[in-house]
Amino acid sequence: MSASLTDWVTAHPAPAVFVFGLVTAVATGLGALPFAFVHRVSGRALAFSNAVASGLMLGACFGLAAEGTRHGAGQTAAGGLAGVVFMLLTQRALAGHDLQFGPATGESARRMALMVIVMTVHSFSEGVAIGASFAGGLALASLVTAAIAVHNVPEGLAISAVLRPRGVGLAACAGWSVVSSLPQPLMAVPAFLFVEAFRPALPYGIGFAAGAMLFMVFVELLPEAYEAAPRPAVSVVTSLALVLMLLVQRYL
Ligand SMILES: [Zn+2]
Repeated sequence: MSASLTDWVTAHPAPAVFVFGLVTAVATGLGALPFAFVHRVSGRALAFSNAVASGLMLGACFGLAAEGTRHGAGQTAAGGLAGVVFMLLTQRALAGHDLQFGPATGESARRMALMVIVMTVHSFSEGVAIGASFAGGLALASLVTAAIAVHNVPEGLAISAVLRPRGVGLAACAGWSVVSSLPQPLMAVPAFLFVEAFRPALPYGIGFAAGAMLFMVFVELLPEAYEAAPRPAVSVVTSLALVLMLLVQRYL
């Protein structure tokens, strides 16, 4: 870490926290890049795209469960239940509307909207984690920010895997990926300024994120994948993506 950056962070901690959060948000957009050459695809490719997104999200849930239970197992479980209930209510609320998402309408548009919502909601607790980490000093904050930025790339990939095969443009995939991570800079600043107030809420938020993502995987993404591709093949692709996400979290 260069001395001038350290000086700047020390002199202006709140804007620095925001900038650190913004870096993680922009990193999410990188996840769209592998889809640069993918246009509208077959039902089978959509199924495997769903499987990739599912594996990446399941891997993220492992990380969230490990992190949340460090702060409190009961609170994490309660948060997880709240995340599932939130998704049930959101699903019901969306069902009543004639949605349009990119070029898609109906069921496909609803699924894309749910994907963006679930990934956006799950970013809140990560923003709090960034802000709270500044209380432990700049070195810790840099480490946490880098870890979240790296883990955001496959999350952008997961979002793009759901949006791009349904006809959403590459720039829009990157844009929605960044949007889904905007709660990170927005939550990091209040979490930094009022760290003692936010800390007890952290395991609930982490559990909430995991519950909402599990719901998305098991209720939306995998059932759709099973319709267009053989179950064993979907399971293999999901498992490989899950392992990839675990390795990213463990070694990067
Ligand atoms: Zn995440």
